[in-house]
Amino acid sequence: MKIIRVALDVPIATLFDYRCDDASEADIGSRVQVPFGKKTLVGIIIEITADTSVAPNRLKAALCVLRDVPPLAADDLRLLQFASAYYQYPLGATVMNALPARLRRIGKLPRQTSACYSLTAAGAAAMPEALPARATVKRRLLELFRQRHVLDVATVKALAATAPAALRQLLALGWVEPSDPPPPAAAIPETAGARPTLTPQQEEAAQAILRGLDGFHPFVLLGVTGSGKTEVYLRAAEAALTAGRQVLLLVPEIALTPQLESLVRARFPDFPLVCLHSGLNEGERLQHWLAAQSGRARIVMGTRLAVFVPLPQAGLIIVDEEHDTSYKQAEGLRYSARDLAIVRAQQRKLPIVLGSATPALETYHNAITKRYRLLELTQRINAALPHIECVATRDEKLQDGLSQRLIGAIDARLARGEQSMLFINRRGYAPVLMCHDCGWLSGCHRCSAQLVLHLRERRLRCHHCGHQATIPVACPECGNQALAPLGQGTQRVEAALAERFPRARILRIDRDSTRRRNAWQTMRDQIHAREVDILVGTQILAKGHDFPHLNLVGVINADSMLYSSDFRAPERLFALLSQVAGRAGRGNTRGEVLIQTEFPRHPLYMALHELSYAAFARSLLAERKQAGFPPFVYQALLRAEAPKLDTALAVLARAAQLGRELSRQVIIYDPVPAGMVRLAGRERAQLLVQADSRARLQNFLGAWHEKLAAETSSRARWSLDVDPLEF
Ligand code: ADP
Ligand code: ZN
Ligand code: ZN
Repeated sequence: MKIIRVALDVPIATLFDYRCDDASEADIGSRVQVPFGKKTLVGIIIEITADTSVAPNRLKAALCVLRDVPPLAADDLRLLQFASAYYQYPLGATVMNALPARLRRIGKLPRQTSACYSLTAAGAAAMPEALPARATVKRRLLELFRQRHVLDVATVKALAATAPAALRQLLALGWVEPSDPPPPAAAIPETAGARPTLTPQQEEAAQAILRGLDGFHPFVLLGVTGSGKTEVYLRAAEAALTAGRQVLLLVPEIALTPQLESLVRARFPDFPLVCLHSGLNEGERLQHWLAAQSGRARIVMGTRLAVFVPLPQAGLIIVDEEHDTSYKQAEGLRYSARDLAIVRAQQRKLPIVLGSATPALETYHNAITKRYRLLELTQRINAALPHIECVATRDEKLQDGLSQRLIGAIDARLARGEQSMLFINRRGYAPVLMCHDCGWLSGCHRCSAQLVLHLRERRLRCHHCGHQATIPVACPECGNQALAPLGQGTQRVEAALAERFPRARILRIDRDSTRRRNAWQTMRDQIHAREVDILVGTQILAKGHDFPHLNLVGVINADSMLYSSDFRAPERLFALLSQVAGRAGRGNTRGEVLIQTEFPRHPLYMALHELSYAAFARSLLAERKQAGFPPFVYQALLRAEAPKLDTALAVLARAAQLGRELSRQVIIYDPVPAGMVRLAGRERAQLLVQADSRARLQNFLGAWHEKLAAETSSRARWSLDVDPLEF
């Protein structure tokens, strides 16, 4: 009797055995349909075995093995198995969540449809004479494919009424295949296709990577914004592609970096590229995933989930902006795509490039301790490094958050027809509404947070749980009618600028103003067309955009991010401000960055002024070492939430006790309330576990997790976060 061991997306950390006589070793990694309780589920066959601990009368039979798509390869499963074990998350859920949604469900897969088709090598080699002479439409279609290479469905339909049928036959012959549309001509920078001569530093970096294409070689590419990191990626990618290998390019958020996509497409027109990100619909995601799995896609560009995509011929992994926290998934399988990319490179013996202007301290530590090879680009290409200066605001009465110095600098740019950008990390009009008579603040009743005043939408909004309320006309506590907004958000700065510079064209760019589909694209076009004088915005503005006419960046309210209980706050702020500063002066003029602060001599601002990531990183590392923080220790956080904080704390106290009974090799701290105790009506607490080696922590977590799962009481929801980034 043959037994299959199946991964299912159920919250139970076990695989499920079924009888399945027609399964063979070749079906490992295949999808299978099985009965589960009253339902039928789709799972993945992980193992084929002869014995099971399930009693014969309880062992059910699998319904059918689905062989409509190729099975996951052993390599793909190995990475998923690692992720499941390392992050203490059920293998079934880990495996199933890595699949495109369409493959997790029952039902026939949609026929491979595509808006565009291209000629395959077989099609190009085929003789038109191979087709019967009377197959005129088919012949004409083939001829047209030879001329244009890629055709869209509309063009095919226009050829003849029977052309779609002819296309299906060419598909069946393997002469044409679905393909991505050719990139719209306008989206490509003119110079994108050209291959510039590398600078000596780029050359050195690229050569180092090329020498490492044959095995697991982790590289850290450290270079300020505009230093040409992308060009180094492209050279490394080129070498891997021409060697017949696939390239995986991970990016933090694809929607924010369309420039990179068009650049890569333009540089490698002969190598099919697919994207994998949350903006795709189910069908697209499935097609792109299958293209990667079949090896048809040679370049896969994607956000964190793409780290799991099957790549039979992977030859290089690149992680752009590797420090970006969006590589870490905040729920479910709480993985770091950057870290798993390293694991994948190691398992598959591949080179991997982690690029950033401000690598995560964990990464930098690995670089200076020579575990990773450090490659540095210290100069900007075609532009001077921006001049960064602090504006001391302690003795000045600011006008709606703006200093005289900043206002003067904007004025000067306006007079010269140049663009300015103001960065503030808060959207809305003001972070809170206040009553000066009694001290009432607009709080969220479901969260330990304030309701943010959105004057545009005439609402109070909680940015954590989404709760909304109307703006009260009078104080709910004392009836005072003069409620005042406290502090600044993007809307308020926008309004202040409009008043101060009535003729300037101001554009606000934050999550509220870019919610509509394509809104951000339209805004970017406006900025490029110089239809905007002043940009006001949040983090969205910080990421890899090249605005050549922008040469003043003002930072408002950075101090609010300076002091935080999170030990990673300075690292993050430095990375954010470096990125923001990097927007200034990418054209011909030297950019100026003005940071308003009450603490102009703070070491973080001093380091920014000198643009010295390395010195600052080393000083932060020294502090971390002394205080016993990562990367010198390894952490996991057990979180619990319940209607009442006491319940959550009690559950964690029990977990701490279980942990202490298990091991003396790790430090188990006492449970504490979470940084933000209430969220969406539930109260949260956390318990930190720490060890001085990853192996020791991992050993402990495995055993501990099992004990926790066996505790039957479910008074609180809990979850384990390995290598947590948020506390
Ligand atoms: P980074 O990714 O480090 O921020 P980019 O790769 O965007 O920097 O490079 C900045 C600019 O310099 C881009 O416009 C790019 O096309 C250009 N560039 C990069 N390398 C070279 C080179 N060797 N010669 C000329 N221009 C280059
Ligand atoms: Zn009041
Ligand atoms: Zn709330």
